[in-house]
Amino acid sequence: MIGKCLCGVVQFEIVGELPNLYQCHCSLCRKVSGSSSNSAMLIESKNYKWICGNQHISSFARSSGFRSDFCSKCGSPVPNKMKIGNGYWVPVGLFEDILEETLEVEVAAHLYVGSKACWHTIGGNAKQYEKMPEISILNKILMRTSR
Ligand SMILES: [Zn+2]
Ligand SMILES: [Zn+2]
Repeated sequence: MIGKCLCGVVQFEIVGELPNLYQCHCSLCRKVSGSSSNSAMLIESKNYKWICGNQHISSFARSSGFRSDFCSKCGSPVPNKMKIGNGYWVPVGLFEDILEETLEVEVAAHLYVGSKACWHTIGGNAKQYEKMPEISILNKILMRTSR
C-alpha cells in the first residue's frame, strides 16, 4: 500500500499484514495534526520502504524527545522511525488507496484520553487509555493476525 504526503514529494510503501490503528489524543498530537487526535499505525521495519522524497523531510523535536517529521514542501506529517522497538510510526491519512483488505482495519485503541479535547467525543468500542500503555501491550492490541 502506497502513502504520499499532500504534495506527493514524499512517498513510501508498506507491505504485509496491516495492523489496526490507534488514535492519540494528547496535546502534542493535537497540535501536530491540527485536529482532535492523530491516527497512526506501527509498522515493522521489514514491512516498510521509502519510495522517494526523504531528502525533503524536515524534523522538529521537543526537549522531551517528542518528534514530528514533516514534508518541507507541503507540511504533511510523514512516517518516522520509532525510538523504541524496530519500526515506523505511520500516519494513516497519507495512504492513497483504500484497498479491500484495509476495510477490516479499525481503530483499536485511543491513547491519552485523559487529556483529549473537551469538544471531541470518542465513539466506537476501542480500548481507551488515560495515558500511554506499555509499547508491548499496545502492539498486542493492534495485532490483527490473532483474530
Ligand atoms: Zn509534501
Ligand atoms: Zn500523542
